[in-house]
Amino acid sequence: MTVISDRLNNSHSIATKTISKLKELNIKPLPENYVVWFSYFADTNPDLTKTIDILFTNNKPIDEEITRQLYKKFYTFEIEGEQYLKTAQKTDSALHEIKNYLIDYSQQTNEYDSQLKGVSEKINADSSQENIQELLEIMIKSTKIIQLQNTTLQNKLDTSQQEIDSLKHNLDNLKVEATTDNLTGIANRKLFEATLLKDMTASVEDGKPLSLLMIDIDHFKNFNDAHGHLVGDQVIRLVAQTISKHTPPNGLPSRYGGEEFTIVLPNLTSLEAQKLANDIRLSMASKLLQNKKTGDSLGKITVSIGTTAFRFGESMVDFIDRADEALYAAKNAGRNRVVLM
Ligand code: GH3
Ligand code: MG
Ligand code: MG
Repeated sequence: MTVISDRLNNSHSIATKTISKLKELNIKPLPENYVVWFSYFADTNPDLTKTIDILFTNNKPIDEEITRQLYKKFYTFEIEGEQYLKTAQKTDSALHEIKNYLIDYSQQTNEYDSQLKGVSEKINADSSQENIQELLEIMIKSTKIIQLQNTTLQNKLDTSQQEIDSLKHNLDNLKVEATTDNLTGIANRKLFEATLLKDMTASVEDGKPLSLLMIDIDHFKNFNDAHGHLVGDQVIRLVAQTISKHTPPNGLPSRYGGEEFTIVLPNLTSLEAQKLANDIRLSMASKLLQNKKTGDSLGKITVSIGTTAFRFGESMVDFIDRADEALYAAKNAGRNRVVLM
C-alpha cells in the first residue's frame, strides 16, 4: 500500500512540476507538450532528459516549437505506429472496393450469360428472318454493354493497382524511417539489435566469426559545453560518416544512443576487427574540426573503442556487455584507444 501511495504522491508532484513548467515557458498544456515535460520530470526517457538538460546548460530558450520537435524526435515511434495503422486501413478499403467491383462484374456477366442462353432458345423456337434480326439487335446491345463494363472494370483495377503500389511504397518508407537514426541517417538501435541477432544466428550456423565494435566520443560533454549542442550534433554526424566509410558492405554501423555507436562485423575475426577499429580511431584523431558557419577551429575529437568477438552459445546481452566493458577499459586506460576483450 505504501508503495502505491508513494507512487501516486510522486506522480502528483511530477504533474504539478509539469504544469508549472508549461506555464513558466508559456507552452500550451496540450497532450504532446505534457508528455514531453512529464517524462522529463519523471525521467522516463533518459535521452530526452539529456537533450533538455543540454538545452538548459546552453541557455537555449525552450518554447512550444522546440517542445513539439522534442515530441517528434522522442515519440516518433508512436507516430509511425499511427501511420502504419492508417496505411493498413487504406489498403484494407482499397481491397474491399476491388472485391465489390468483382462481385458486380460477376453478376453482370451472369446476366449476359443467361441472355445468351435465352437468345439461343428463342432462335431454336422461331428461326424466322425477323426474329433473328430482332434477337441479333438485342445481342449487339448487350455485348456493347458488357464491353463497356469490361473497360470500366479494367480501369478500376488499374487505379486500385496504382493505389496499392503507392501504399506499399509508403509502408517501405515507414519501415526505413522506423529503423533509421534521424540525426545521422545511419541505422538506429532497433535495427542494430535485430541485425546483431540475425548475424549471431548465421555465425552459429556457418561457423564464421562475428565481431562487434562499441564506439564512444571522448569528453563529448566538454565539447558540447564549449561549442554548443548544434555544433556537437555536427560532430555526431561526422563520426557516423567516418564509421560508415570504414564499414565493409556486409557490416552495419549504427547510432546506439547519444554519442555512442556500434558496428556489427560479420566474418571478421577479433584481430581484423581490432585493426578496423584502430583505423577508425586514427582517422577521427587526425581530423582538425572546423565550425562550418564561422570557420573557427574546433580542435580535434577522439573516440574510444571496445571490440570483441562473438562466443558461440552466449546471449546477445552478454555479447554487447563485453563490448561495453572493453569500451570502458579503453576509457579508463586514457581514451583515444582500442581495447580488445
Ligand atoms: P567520456 O569520454 O567518458 O565518454 O566523456 P563524455 O563527456 O563523452 O561522456 P558523458 O556520458 O559524461 O556525456 C556524454 C555527452 O554526450 C552528454 C551530452 O552532452 C552529449 N550528447 C549525447 N547525445 C547528444 C546529442 O544527440 N547531441 C549532442 N550535441 N550531444 C549529445
Ligand atoms: Mg563519451
Ligand atoms: Mg557515452
